[in-house]
Order: sequence, then structure tokens, then C-alpha cells
Amino acid sequence: MLVTLVRGRVAPAWRSLDLGVSSSLTRRAVAKATGVDADRVDREWEATGDLGDAAAWAVEHAAQRTLFSTPLTVRRVYDTLRDLATYEGAGSRDRRVDAVAGLVSDADPEEARYVVRTALGHLRVGIGEGTVRDAIALAFLDGAGDGDTLVTDAAVAAVDRAHQVTNDFPLVATAARDEGVEGLATLGIDLFRPVKSMLAEKAEGLDDGLDSVAPAPSSVLLEHKYDGARIQIHVDGDDVRVFTRRLEDVTEQFPDVVAAVREAVTADSCVLDGEAVGYDPDTERPVVFQEFSRRIKRENGVDRLAEEIPAVVFLFDCLAVDGESLLDAPLRDRLDRLDGLLDPEPMALERATHRSLADCDSRAEALDVAESFYADALDAGHEGLMLKNLDATHQPGRRVGAMMKVKPTMEPLDLVVPRAQYSEGRRSDWLGRLFLAAYDPEDDAFVEVGRLATGYTDEELREITDRLEALVVDRDGRLLDLQPELVLEIEYEEIQASTEYASGYALRFPRFVRIREDLAPEDADTVERVGELFEGQ
Ligand code: AMP
Repeated sequence: MLVTLVRGRVAPAWRSLDLGVSSSLTRRAVAKATGVDADRVDREWEATGDLGDAAAWAVEHAAQRTLFSTPLTVRRVYDTLRDLATYEGAGSRDRRVDAVAGLVSDADPEEARYVVRTALGHLRVGIGEGTVRDAIALAFLDGAGDGDTLVTDAAVAAVDRAHQVTNDFPLVATAARDEGVEGLATLGIDLFRPVKSMLAEKAEGLDDGLDSVAPAPSSVLLEHKYDGARIQIHVDGDDVRVFTRRLEDVTEQFPDVVAAVREAVTADSCVLDGEAVGYDPDTERPVVFQEFSRRIKRENGVDRLAEEIPAVVFLFDCLAVDGESLLDAPLRDRLDRLDGLLDPEPMALERATHRSLADCDSRAEALDVAESFYADALDAGHEGLMLKNLDATHQPGRRVGAMMKVKPTMEPLDLVVPRAQYSEGRRSDWLGRLFLAAYDPEDDAFVEVGRLATGYTDEELREITDRLEALVVDRDGRLLDLQPELVLEIEYEEIQASTEYASGYALRFPRFVRIREDLAPEDADTVERVGELFEGQ
């Protein structure tokens, strides 16, 4: 109890426990408990900006004192607050007022401050998960057994692991107290209790990623890196719950995902890990995350929004199936299990696009394959790629080197388009190959630093083509010389030294972000700036 109360909660984040305590309910309870007029409580609340402070003030200035007050204990506060969530139906609001008033009337001013903040879910006393973890280790796994501070790293790691898997400090504390490290080791993944997400380390590029993620490319899996929301899906027959990376239950917000899971998952029970991405039904391209995040926050009109921005969950891990935990199984086995439990594979639930490097004969070939896979991922409108070690276990809550991300993360550049070429294939009517130039203020010239071919939607490309055709100075077949007018914001992975372009630099994997309507060509980034970024990377 104490371990959740110190963090201002009465239940873990994933257990959506609504205490039903609003500010107006609380001010009524404070007024009732203290006999202080509700308007007077309001004034204090306004002055301090905190109903907890107002409650402390009211207790101090109480017009009435309870004759027989029962001291507040941790158990009483915890049980009373938890019970609030169970009140239902007519009269439940009054019962809540009475319950909170009961606590406040037995509280001293300081206690009232914290009880009220906790009831409202506003309490923050700066105690992080790490502090609670260390405290549990110190209290129950103290090697010296005398309350001295002899806690081994292994003991702290055992508490940490148990918490990353269960996200339930009371459970972890009880196991540590009653059964020590062995007890903690038995705490595993359980249905409808989300596990913390395993996170990726950032690679400096494909080369670095390939070298770092696994001893040899033969055990590397490439996957598209999607720009959406991390989603953990728990399934038990028709019971499906969806959790975010912050362990919030968002099942209600994703009726389309729940329906797809019910239709396609063949296992009796399982826990799946993936990324939910929003799509624009007209262009069939992913929408930017800001747009998709409306679905996570939305509480009303959920079905309409699901039609407007349908979600696709790209699955990339399976943490448990039919009662068996797979956390300690290698990724290749977990993915085999994942493949075995989707039938049919509906649109809204797919395996993440992937490519194993096991068939590459040399490292050079592996790098080639990775480069074209990366370009495809960016082309499809995704964020980059993931490199994963197929032999690695799943480590909840850890940022691990067995999973590395590569994405164009350098500071974007604003660059001018001095030349453009028509694309080949489907987009052959459009100017899809754009030369990019930085500004040289000394000569008032534009100097090329690379060539862009990806990152735009069809609609954006059509607009870019229209804009550029109005700027043509000269034509050489499908290649156009342009007045350097249009400024584009460009992301890229890195800057290389190169003899290909007059600047001496070349952007690797440049990607269109947006047209900078607000910039004149002279406002574009300078060659000097490109040089500085090159030196600094
Ligand atoms: P970042 O947020 O940049 O640290 O990248 C890690 C996040 O990328 C994960 O938490 C996922 O939400 C997301 N992600 C997208 N695609 C994948 C994938 N194929 N495998 C793992 N994580 C992915």
C-alpha cells in the first residue's frame, strides 16, 4: 500500500481505477468535514491554486472538531480511497463526499493536504520508480539483515526486473518481503497486466547498427520503424485489452483493433507487442503522429474517428502465448510463434515489414540489403528502420543494444531546388527527383548538396511539380534548370564528403518534410552551415 501511496496512487497506472473524485466534490467534502463555508474554501483554493493547501487551511481553521477522531492509518486512507471506485448508482456522489469528508475530519492539516491531493490524483512528491525500487530492496533484501545499507546490485536488479514485468509495486514488495530474491524471480508476465516496453538504442547509421546489434549479420533482422504509438495487446478468448507504452488502457479508443484481434488471433490467449499507425484512407499513406494521437486521446465519437483515421497495428513481438511466457525465448522463436497465431492476416493487424540478413554471404552484401530496405521504409512514409538480434531475449523496460534504431535524425536543413528531373514509372508525370542546394551568401549562389527522391505524398509531389514548372529557365530532356526559388525542409541521415556535388558534401537519405512557404531562397541554410554540421556529426 505504502509503495503506491508514496507515488500518489492507489493502484497501478494500467488498472483504470476511476475514483470519481472531482474538485467540486472535494471542496464539498472539505467544507462538510471542517464546517468551513464552501465559498471560503474556494477563496483559499483560488489563492493557493491547490485544493490540498485549501484543505490544510480549512482543517486548521475548522469551525467544528470531531469529538472522537480515529487516527488516519495508511491502511484506512488506502482502503477508503480504493472503495470510492466501487461506488455506483444513485447516491454514489454523496457517499463519495462522505467518505472523503470522513478522512479529512480525522486529519491534521498536513494529512488533509496529502489526502486531498491523492484523492484528486494530483499528488507528486518527487518519488520516482527508482526510489521505490531501491527502498524495497533496502527494506527486504538487505544482505546484512540488520537494516544496514548492504544491498547488492543483484538484489536491486531483481526488484527492478520484477517491477518491469509486473508494474505492480505492492506485488513486488510483498514477494520481496515474504520470499526474497527467489520470490521475485517467480513473478512473471500475466494477462491484462502490461509489461514495460523494451526500447531501442540509437545507431549512428546502418554501418554502426550492423556492427553493434549482433556478432554477425546472419542473426540480424531488419524491420520498418513505424511512427505511431507503441501498443501492447492482451488477449484471452474474446477479452481483448490494449495498453500504451505508458501502460494506459486504451481499449475503448481502438474498436477497430479489438475487432481485428478477435477475428484473426488463433491462440486462446497471448500478449502481443507492436506499433499502431494511423492511415489516411484516401492516400493510403501513414498520417503524422500528431494526427494519429487524436485517436489515443479521444473519448467520444471514437467510432467516427476510427473511420477517419483507421489504425494498422504492425506486430513485432509475442511475449506470451497460451499461458507460456516467452520473455526468455530468443526473438526468432517469439516471431515464429507470432507468425503461427495470425489467421487470416487482416489489414488492421500485420507483421511488421521485415527482412532477415541470414542469406547474405558477406557483410558488404548485408549492408547493401540494409540500405535498400532503409530507402524502402522511408519511401513508404515510415520513420526509419530497426535492426534486431534474433538470438536476444525480451528485456522489459530496458533500452537494449539487441534492438537498434536508425532514422534520419540530424537537424533538418532548409534547402533550395535549383534543378529537377521527372520521375520514372508511376510518378513519371511529376518532378520527383529534386536537386537540393544550400546558399552561398558571398557569391549569392546556390550550391548543390544532394538529390531528393522520397518523403512526399502524391499530393505533395503534384504541388511541388506545379510550383517548379512555373520556375523553369531551361529544359534538357526530362531535366529542368530552375530559378532557385522554392525552399524545402529536408531530413537526412548524415552528411558525407563527396565529389559528386559542387559543395563537396552529399546528404545521405534525404527526405522531404515540407515546403517552407515562409522562407525566401536567401533564408535557406548556407554551405557554411552544412560544413559545420558535417564537422559536428
Ligand atoms: P524511439 O521512440 O525513437 O526511441 O524508438 C523506439 C520506438 O519505436 C518503440 O518504442 C516503438 O514504439 C517504435 N517502433 C516502431 N517500429 C518498431 C519496430 N519495428 N520494432 C520496435 N519498435 C518499433
